[in-house]
Amino acid sequence: MPNSRKRNTISRHKDRGHYDEKTIHEILDSGKICHVGITLEGQPFVIPMAYARQENALILHGAPNSRLLNQLANGLPACVTVTHLDGLVLARSTFHHSLNFRSVVAFGKARSVDDLQEKHAALVLLTEHLAPGRTKVARAATDAEAKATSVVRFEIEDASAKIRTGPPIDSPNDMKLEVWAGIIPVTTLEGEPMPAPDLAAGVVYS
Ligand SMILES: Cc1cc2nc3c(=O)[nH]c(=O)nc-3n(C[C@H](O)[C@H](O)[C@H](O)COP(=O)(O)OP(=O)(O)OC[C@H]3O[C@@H](n4cnc5c(N)ncnc54)[C@H](O)[C@@H]3O)c2cc1C
Repeated sequence: MPNSRKRNTISRHKDRGHYDEKTIHEILDSGKICHVGITLEGQPFVIPMAYARQENALILHGAPNSRLLNQLANGLPACVTVTHLDGLVLARSTFHHSLNFRSVVAFGKARSVDDLQEKHAALVLLTEHLAPGRTKVARAATDAEAKATSVVRFEIEDASAKIRTGPPIDSPNDMKLEVWAGIIPVTTLEGEPMPAPDLAAGVVYS
């Protein structure tokens, strides 16, 4: 660290910062993708991945030849972020435009999940997080499939959450301007299921 501040201490807009596990876990649980940042030989890489939270850790998975997963399995320190965009905050001046958001920045290291039973449980957790109920209807992974998948458990050592809510904060001088101001809410919605083109007749979505 370049200074004595803790790595997860929010300095800008401290009032938007949260450090309690409940807030951090809620933000993590309402996301499906994270961005995993590592530094290799001085070069930063930030890679998007699917995840699921398991206790105070994140389960990540992928192909055994994933550079990122191999580095994480070797204990390389990483920084994982999760971001939700909740709204466009439109002010009377462009300067005061903003975004409503919830985000988490988490620091830690991962370990490889090699025990087959633990791996199956992690993969079920991941599938259920991404598509709830899916493990009740889809064929479970075989041992061979689990062995052909890399799974790591990223243990969160320190984390911070940052949340912005509410309307735009305009300058007093701009309050009389006849410019619309307010919030355009933004949500991520799952659409109607679209059957695979080769789906057998009569098989319905459940
Ligand atoms: C969707 C979205 C869009 C944003 N767009 C902008 C933008 O365009 N310009 C801009 O300046 N800022 C933007 N921010 C805020 C940005 O994430 C940073 O919080 C801000 O820029 C301050 O950066 P810093 O390095 O000075 O933070 P510092 O406060 O110095 O960071 C110190 C520590 O605080 C924590 N922290 C910082 N930011 C976050 C965060 N967002 N979530 C959780 N923990 C955090 C981390 O642990 C970090 O190590 C955006 C945030 C989100 C979620």
